[in-house]
Amino acid sequence: MARIFSSLPDKPDHNALELDVLGRWEQEQTFDRLREQNRGGPRFSFVDGPVTANKTLAVHTAWGRTLKDVFQRYKALRGFDQRYQNGFDCQGLWIEVGVERELGLNSKREIEEYGLAEFARKCREKVIWSATELTRGSKRLGQWMDWGNDYFTFSDTNIEYIWRFLKLQHAQGRLHKGHRSTEWCPRCGTSISQHELSQSGVYQDKTDPSLYVRLPLRDRPGESLVVWTTTPWTLPANVAAAVKPDAEYILKPNGEWVARALEPDATAERTVLGAELVGLEYDGPYDHLPAVEGTEHRVIPWEDVTLDEGTGVVHIAPGCGGEDFELSKVHGLRVLTPVDESGRFYDEYGWLHGLSAADAADQITGDLAERGRLVASTQIVHRYPHCWRCDTPLIFRITDDWFIGVDDLRQPLLDANATVEWTPAYMGKRMDDWLRNMGDWNISRRRYYGLPLPIYECGCGHVTVVGSKAELAERAVSGLDQLEELRRPWVDEVPIRCEACEETVRRIPEVGDVWLDAGIVPFSTLGWESPEWVPQGYATGAAKGLTTADLPDHAYWEQWFPADWVSEMREQIRLWFYSQLFMSVALVGRAPFQKVLGYEKMLDEQGREMHGSWGNMIEAQDAFARMGADVIRWQGAAQPPNQALLFGFGPAHEIRRKLLTLWNSARFLVDYANIGGWTPSWDDLAAGPAGELQPLDRWLVSRTSAFVEDATAGYESWWTPNVVRAFEAFVDDVSNWYIRRTRRRFWDGDETAFAVLWYALVQGLRVISPVMPFLADHLWRVLTEPAEGAPDSAFLAGWPEAAERDDALLAEVADVRRVVELGRQARATAGVKLRQPLRAMVVEGAELARSHADEIAEELRVKAVSFGAVDASELRVRPNLPVLGPKLGKELAGVRAALESGAFEELAGGGFRVAGHELAPEEVLVERQGKEGFAVASADSVTVALDTHLDEELVREGRVYDLIHAVNSLRKEAGLELTDRIRLTIPADDADLLSHSDWIARETLAVSVEANGPQLSIAKA
Ligand SMILES: [Zn+2]
Ligand SMILES: [Zn+2]
Repeated sequence: MARIFSSLPDKPDHNALELDVLGRWEQEQTFDRLREQNRGGPRFSFVDGPVTANKTLAVHTAWGRTLKDVFQRYKALRGFDQRYQNGFDCQGLWIEVGVERELGLNSKREIEEYGLAEFARKCREKVIWSATELTRGSKRLGQWMDWGNDYFTFSDTNIEYIWRFLKLQHAQGRLHKGHRSTEWCPRCGTSISQHELSQSGVYQDKTDPSLYVRLPLRDRPGESLVVWTTTPWTLPANVAAAVKPDAEYILKPNGEWVARALEPDATAERTVLGAELVGLEYDGPYDHLPAVEGTEHRVIPWEDVTLDEGTGVVHIAPGCGGEDFELSKVHGLRVLTPVDESGRFYDEYGWLHGLSAADAADQITGDLAERGRLVASTQIVHRYPHCWRCDTPLIFRITDDWFIGVDDLRQPLLDANATVEWTPAYMGKRMDDWLRNMGDWNISRRRYYGLPLPIYECGCGHVTVVGSKAELAERAVSGLDQLEELRRPWVDEVPIRCEACEETVRRIPEVGDVWLDAGIVPFSTLGWESPEWVPQGYATGAAKGLTTADLPDHAYWEQWFPADWVSEMREQIRLWFYSQLFMSVALVGRAPFQKVLGYEKMLDEQGREMHGSWGNMIEAQDAFARMGADVIRWQGAAQPPNQALLFGFGPAHEIRRKLLTLWNSARFLVDYANIGGWTPSWDDLAAGPAGELQPLDRWLVSRTSAFVEDATAGYESWWTPNVVRAFEAFVDDVSNWYIRRTRRRFWDGDETAFAVLWYALVQGLRVISPVMPFLADHLWRVLTEPAEGAPDSAFLAGWPEAAERDDALLAEVADVRRVVELGRQARATAGVKLRQPLRAMVVEGAELARSHADEIAEELRVKAVSFGAVDASELRVRPNLPVLGPKLGKELAGVRAALESGAFEELAGGGFRVAGHELAPEEVLVERQGKEGFAVASADSVTVALDTHLDEELVREGRVYDLIHAVNSLRKEAGLELTDRIRLTIPADDADLLSHSDWIARETLAVSVEANGPQLSIAKA
């Protein structure tokens, strides 16, 4: 007989199967046909957050890409027209630092010596390499995007959009240069902004010196202030010592002034309030250095002095700290900036000159000790900020940076965020908190490969912000002919004429914060205010030749903005979600997205961060080969996004085991349909399976509808864990109930059973296909190929309609399954194996299962099942001490004794009356134990009791089941087909089993059963 379905092997080889499906999609242009099918449908606007193009695909990026793809595939199945534009982030420190490493460059000076033009070309090459790798990895993951139509943030078009944004901010008075103290990376030679500090990994434990330093008071011989610092390099910049005005300070016998709160046991020669010390002058720690000469040092008041560490007297160096700098403005203090861009001391710092902040620490400690200024020196481990890109400990420096003021936007930003639906909701609250507290946006970086800030600051004081390439060309004095891209060094060679004084003015050297590049995307890629549609208008500047992306026109932006949905990890709240929101509110006064799905971090399966150097990093390529993309996706989709995903090969193994249950169910159908000559009908899928349905068939159809509805609700609430959980329960019901209970009908070629199982499996595959597209589409092809009229891919089949469902029947079978599960538990507890038949069983609760007593009896191998009160068990009730202890106090002992002696009354609803108290169900711990000869199990107010007494006949029947099991194992070992007949020989010792020879023959397909062997054997008949 010709096979109707293609056979399935014992188990799937995920990697091979997936490569096969990828090839088929490519060849059959499945994705293109899907897009064509949905063109003109309702729109689902997803805007992809650009992935940094400096690496290959990492597994944690694969999580985010999975979620994006799951929802895009789901929306496509529902007929939504989508854009599918992928984005690459191509500028900034991420790219620069990688290239610096490859070229062996260690400082900004070396980059400049290498040449900015050549450096820019190397950065572009790095981006191209990474974009190719990320595309390859993402395709392998199954992500359907319009590859080749990507947006690259380094395109001139993107840059021009940001220029325009900055020009508008300038016109509205928000752009300004600030002289501020900022966190600074001495290796990268640039300031680090507030939101960059919020990236993960920035705060790390660091060991630093902990110094207590003496500052002698000028007019009080023998008396000194004692200050504490963990940053010795800042001491040469000391100009003041701050005290808390209303705190008590004591003078110790050794002449040292400290806060009372920090040395409560010390002897005090004198006690004063901090306010009384204010104004005193002292000798600075480094007055003799040229830079410090002539600096006045005095005690200042500061409410924020903490009294939980240090001495209560705080060393103030306005050139080296944010709060210190603010205090300098209040108190008119001198600002000493001791280190340069690379964190090295300036020449005027005498013997320190050229030393880095880190190297100076030891020398300063030694020097202070020598001069008798050191009170104590130890070490401290504390959380300290590091550069997010190069891991160098950050320092504070005073610099001139460019900022966008936030004050007038704060409320509109909060209002816009309130319109966004965040999943999980707490992430929206985090955004709200951030918006309430963030400062002005520091947009300038002293680097090379980034958005050139179009700011021209003239000596006359006039500031011009150029808003486009055309405007630059119009105002240029020279250099246009060499302008390859809007990028350093070329753009630096195009000075303009100052419109105020007519002088030639050059661009400031700074480049922009990368979050400007990504934040503008909802405008630059959708054609905001673009007067016309420009074919390949996004493939400009560095992006030329890398993409076919058009610059759409404004009408298109109107259609696709704001995004219906965006999704990135939580960290992006202060990064991409923020920069987009900021730019969008500033430009058009509203949020650029309506819904957000955020997710937490990915860690290894032990819950540790993954690091290349820890050996626990999993390469995406390795994961594809060893787990398969479906399993990677499954891990991502099953994970509640409000908790970290613990990713690894252990969980992957567990998922493959679950997927095998689905596989086996499909294989069961395929094998028996091929034997029985059954062919599916495509119409069954819409209309429901044809034929005379039995109760179990009707149940599976209802169960399928319930699954379709549950999973749909999961997708609609952006919560994939609910989809996965619903699918697992559904597959368990199909395999461990429907197939298990219906097996014989398949052997008999029952067409209705085939149609019902086929219907359930195919509907199930459609619904889970967004989560695991490969296995789902492969099985779809196998199961639907024989059905005339079926689309060749699940993704072209649309979303299934849930058929009618019979909730009463679903509840009945759920009760039956509960009873059977408890019956198995009771057997296990009593050590009675499942193959051993038993006489009787009583079920209490689970009333709905009453009409299924026969099925329960058969499943549990029990001769008789009755419903009613289980008195075969003893109830043991104990007090739940953590709850009852506080409630009952002294009376607890009496209640406990009464419970122990059984002097209690069970109340409806699970409570108990005992010793004059009514106890609620949560106040007690209840156990049911079988009486002698009974096995009892109980859960959720259902109790089952199995009579475990065995008579001779029961024992014999148990041996028959063992025999059948053994014969079927032999059949498998011998490689027999399901339909092959055998001759069976059983050991002579088992001759008494021949009383059941018909039964044995039926179950093993034996044409003869003889009991004359030395051992069990079979022969093909
Ligand atoms: Zn750095
Ligand atoms: Zn001027």
